[in-house]
Amino acid sequence: MSHPPIADVIVAGLGAAGSAAAYHLARRGARVVGVDRYTPPHAMGSSHGRSRIIREAYFEHPLYVPLVREAYMGWEELEALTGRRLYLRTGGLMLGPADGTVVPGARRSALEHGLSFEELAAEDVRRRFPAWHLPDDVVGIFEPRAGMLDPEAAIAAHLDLARRHGAELRFDEPLLSWRAEGDAVEVTTSRATYRAARLVLAVGAWTPRVLAPLGLPLVVERNVVAWFDTTVGRAASRTAPPVSTASPGFGGSTARHESTGRDYSTAPDASTGPDDSTGHDNAIARDEPTVQDEPTVQDEPTVRDEPTARDGSTAHDGSTAHDDPADRGAPPGRNAWSAADVLADPEARSRPAVDIVAGAGARSDPPLARAEDLFAPERFPVFVHEVRPGLTWYGFPDTGDGVKLGIHHSGESTDPETERREATESDVARIRELVRTYLPAADRPVREAAVCLYTNAPDDHFVLGPHPDHPAVIVVSACSGHGFKFAPVIGELAAELSLEGRSRHDLTPFRIERLLG
Ligand SMILES: Cc1cc2nc3c(=O)[nH]c(=O)nc-3n(C[C@H](O)[C@H](O)[C@H](O)COP(=O)(O)OP(=O)(O)OC[C@H]3O[C@@H](n4cnc5c(N)ncnc54)[C@H](O)[C@@H]3O)c2cc1C
Repeated sequence: MSHPPIADVIVAGLGAAGSAAAYHLARRGARVVGVDRYTPPHAMGSSHGRSRIIREAYFEHPLYVPLVREAYMGWEELEALTGRRLYLRTGGLMLGPADGTVVPGARRSALEHGLSFEELAAEDVRRRFPAWHLPDDVVGIFEPRAGMLDPEAAIAAHLDLARRHGAELRFDEPLLSWRAEGDAVEVTTSRATYRAARLVLAVGAWTPRVLAPLGLPLVVERNVVAWFDTTVGRAASRTAPPVSTASPGFGGSTARHESTGRDYSTAPDASTGPDDSTGHDNAIARDEPTVQDEPTVQDEPTVRDEPTARDGSTAHDGSTAHDDPADRGAPPGRNAWSAADVLADPEARSRPAVDIVAGAGARSDPPLARAEDLFAPERFPVFVHEVRPGLTWYGFPDTGDGVKLGIHHSGESTDPETERREATESDVARIRELVRTYLPAADRPVREAAVCLYTNAPDDHFVLGPHPDHPAVIVVSACSGHGFKFAPVIGELAAELSLEGRSRHDLTPFRIERLLG
């Protein structure tokens, strides 16, 4: 390798995972150089849109619970160190059929790990959270510690701290190729060639390209979220104003890996560094994006107009091993959430409201006459609702910019370089169909919609571990649409793997090798 080492670790990709990795590496004293193809936080990858759910009763698998517990501590620490408000506790509702995936999975995780939660019948949900119109066969798990994270602020916070600890961060400088030999890696970007002892690859939706020679069965998926504006009248206009972001182009060079013969070039876009060529000599095969089956809303649920007063919920008082930042009050706010002290008024949760949608009339004093009140954080926890197998949606309360809603795994395979970055009317129509059925008070004009990328592994678990052929390269990616909440702990794990060659957690379920035939 021809160039002298400039760092202990190079981190390529400084989004959710990479910014956290850069911080935790630098904090441990490593000399870090971080590069990103854009200027993070940005809206070209997987970490934009102003909110992400954090929840603990993890329906995907109980193995995530210890990780998310650590992540809560990481977020708390990040808030304290940077003075930024990153986490808003709203509570979380997991909803779905009793024999589905979400509710039984959340219950299993909560019971295995002794988490606090409540079991709710549909009528309990309707009474306590009156925006919901749920059929009687839906059940729920309420977890009090769930809430929302501010992804852009979180990335900025990790990058700030990384810099404070001496990391050198270079933006608009894509990695073009890399090679590894024993304990040395060489990375070529659009501006230079760097050498270090370790490389952390945290390139999100670009992972299938950057690791193309491995042929990993990762699928990048286009997902749309929309903000429904409950402060204006019923949806006269049902159109979604498209969100336009720059469309990346093509270009780049190729390089062949020395020892395996695998080609580790990436295909950078034309919007990046000065050395980007406009040529199309790109050795990486590009598949045309395919459109998978679109889930549709078929079942017409029956909605009970009159919630009963009976509280059939079951409380489970599990204890958690650490303090809850929300219990002690979050640091002074600096973002739009600062005014909301959501769980400060537990009474607010159970106060019934006027059902403005069903027109059921006043049921209580004081009444809530405005739709936006139904979606205030104290009455509308973050949620994940499994409608039926293959159709799950999720959403956030209105913290000032509308009720944000999206379909989990909306189904269209894509590529970050050819992606349709504009949300269309039909994208929003699919969400609106669910809104009309289950949250009719939010059936209002859409004030904003955005396209964001999942990087899915076939088993929906993460990819986190050393490259199978090059232990000096740590791959941190493919969070299958649920990775943001773990960013602080993923950053720590990447630092442990890079600097110590091992981790305090068993990362076997996340190893790359599981995906290789
Ligand atoms: C709509 C949507 C909703 C979601 N909701 C949730 C949720 O509620 N809760 C949750 O926990 N998770 C959620 N997720 C998943 C979560 O947001 C992602 O798992 C996480 O943000 C991925 O982080 P990342 O660091 O892998 O990718 P990113 O944050 O996208 O970072 C990758 C970075 O790599 C850079 N890069 C790419 N190629 C190169 C290159 N060649 N050289 C240099 N840099 C490069 C990119 O510019 C980018 O900055 C959601 C995702 C989406 C899309």
